[in-house]
Amino acid sequence: MLKKKVNKTICSYCGVGCGMDVSVDSKGTITVEGDVSYPVNKGMLCSKGKNLNYVAQDTTDRILFPQMRWSRNHPMQRVSWDSAFERAAAVFKSIIDRHGPDSVGFYVSGQCLTEEYYLVNKLAKGFIGTNNIDTNSRLCMSSAVVGYKKMLGEDSVPISYDDIELSDCFLIAGANPAWCHPILFRRIEKHKAENPNVKIIVVDPRKTQTCAIADLHLQILPGTDVILFNALARWLIEKRKIDKKFIKQHTSNFEACKKTAFELSLKRAAELCGIAVDDIRKAAGFIGNAKAFISMWTMGLNQSVIGVAKNMALLNLSLLTGQIGKPGSGPFSLTGQPNAMGGREVGGMASLLAAHKDLGNPKHRKEVAEFWGCKAISGEAGYTATEMFDALDRGKLKAIWIICTNPVVSLPNSHKVERALKKASFVVVQDISHRSETTQFADLLLPAAGWLEKEGTMTNSERRISYLPQVIDPPGEALPDAEILWRFAQHMGFKGFDYKNAGEVYDEHCLLTKGTHIDISGLSHRRLKDEGSFQWPVPDPKHMGTPRLFTDLRFYTNDQKSHFNVPPKLYNQSEETDSTFPLILNTGRVRDQWHTRTKTGKVKRLLAHIPEPYLEMNKVDAYLRDLKDGDVAIVKSRRGQVQVKVKVNFDIRERVVFLPMHWGKVLNNDFGRANNITNDLVDPISKEPDFKYCAVQVGKFVKP
Ligand code: SF4
Repeated sequence: MLKKKVNKTICSYCGVGCGMDVSVDSKGTITVEGDVSYPVNKGMLCSKGKNLNYVAQDTTDRILFPQMRWSRNHPMQRVSWDSAFERAAAVFKSIIDRHGPDSVGFYVSGQCLTEEYYLVNKLAKGFIGTNNIDTNSRLCMSSAVVGYKKMLGEDSVPISYDDIELSDCFLIAGANPAWCHPILFRRIEKHKAENPNVKIIVVDPRKTQTCAIADLHLQILPGTDVILFNALARWLIEKRKIDKKFIKQHTSNFEACKKTAFELSLKRAAELCGIAVDDIRKAAGFIGNAKAFISMWTMGLNQSVIGVAKNMALLNLSLLTGQIGKPGSGPFSLTGQPNAMGGREVGGMASLLAAHKDLGNPKHRKEVAEFWGCKAISGEAGYTATEMFDALDRGKLKAIWIICTNPVVSLPNSHKVERALKKASFVVVQDISHRSETTQFADLLLPAAGWLEKEGTMTNSERRISYLPQVIDPPGEALPDAEILWRFAQHMGFKGFDYKNAGEVYDEHCLLTKGTHIDISGLSHRRLKDEGSFQWPVPDPKHMGTPRLFTDLRFYTNDQKSHFNVPPKLYNQSEETDSTFPLILNTGRVRDQWHTRTKTGKVKRLLAHIPEPYLEMNKVDAYLRDLKDGDVAIVKSRRGQVQVKVKVNFDIRERVVFLPMHWGKVLNNDFGRANNITNDLVDPISKEPDFKYCAVQVGKFVKP
């Protein structure tokens, strides 16, 4: 009997980046299993990963051929790829001729492969001449990027998953890994079960599933994270639980950090956070007495108008205790998407440049321009995610090319996003599935190859670069995203896009990283395919990768010291609650859905967990509104409304409600789409939107 070929690849969902064995039998049936040899997950997969075969197998929702319409009054028509490219190039050239290069933009995704990210950046920043290229990773990680740069000198996650088993204290803030990073959570859970001395502190306004393993849950009021972290810093300093030698030799700005930490008494901080002062002391004691301390966070900190301040206040704790560069210790931001990290490596944001070079540095821009063989690169940051749709709405941006993301459901203030897309002169949507609501706004719809249907690379939360092979053919006329981009660039008449395969794009990217802090010039495409995954940097062909950064305590700043940073804002600066909108809405994820459900929404098994959107609400708030579990409520904000069933409990704080972000138009425009009501305020530095704080009112839905 013929042995089935097993293809080693990586899960296409979250930033944990689990390894998978994928096989296809003679009938084309796909099976997936956890890769026992892969260091991240050691054979484990969560419910989403285990069911990826159904997603890959079912092509009923797929976009199979290019389609376009000549005007908004015309229906979409099937066209050839050549016609599609000619139309796209003609419209882009015409708009750029009339309005300049900054009148077009690209909005991409943390699910794009690194090569795709690299190409769209090269195309926009190098050849079209605009920095209007941003990504939905702006919505999840940009505050962490700024925090790392300010304090460590570079966007560098210092540690690895293997540090989990070496740590004895975890502060998990604004994250619910039990549902959103399940395999990582299982590693923490197992470590705790085997080592009862390990302390786990969870910071969250909701009692989430992650609290099941917590020694202490700090159920703070939304937006008070900086106050809490400063209070922890104050206690550590007062009780002399800080690493004076590390602070003296390897940090700067300690006095400013101390001054800010002492602005509030512990008692006042506890009052503002809405928690017991003894719990602050207890948490600080866990951190101060730990041999190795890890802080872990995601969107609860990042998605805020003070997201950068929250990151800096948290990172201060690692510097105060000298818990960085050592086994089992360090700050660890978790990426939401599978390749958010890879996108950052190639400068996949409006404010970044390829190879972690600095867009604001003329020398770096010149180096990249010479490498690409293009004219000068602009030093002005382009439009970020929300700015791009604002610019469309205001008529500043005329054309947008959207790749592998569904902004109509995922961006804040959805009605404004829809309005902006209607106003655009030209919208290109490049995606795999008609399930994306954004496809309805396309003037040109391009069918992309999906997971298993193209090759490329991704980088997970711990800087691990992995190769994903092509296992099956794409359906219909779908093409790999990288090929779509380089063929469009060729139609635009640009030189330097004559690639034969994604491997050539990857090798070009590697070469550009030479001599940088993310140097992967020692990790060729061939080596990656032959030897498996590596953590960057990998600066020479014999180098085995870098699981932990800063082991020599030299940081990437000019003085090689880490810099304490004083958060400029202690208090949440988001929109105010008032008597009309008295509750605070927090949005987030559920265990078995992913983003806007374009993939998970078609897997019956995953729908069994939570089949429809819901509003989580405290029993007291529900009682005051005459709402019972299962009743349909109407939730209104200053921007819109949604109808949704309520789930009543005591797990969420009073005056806080929670709505999952996954659902789009379920029954009608107002049913369950969380972003109908979210606000589009952003952090002034990271430009990350505030999905975690918006003022709402909730009432019983009465049929008209
Ligand atoms: Fe995929 Fe994340 Fe689940 Fe791993 S934890 S199987 S990467 S969704």
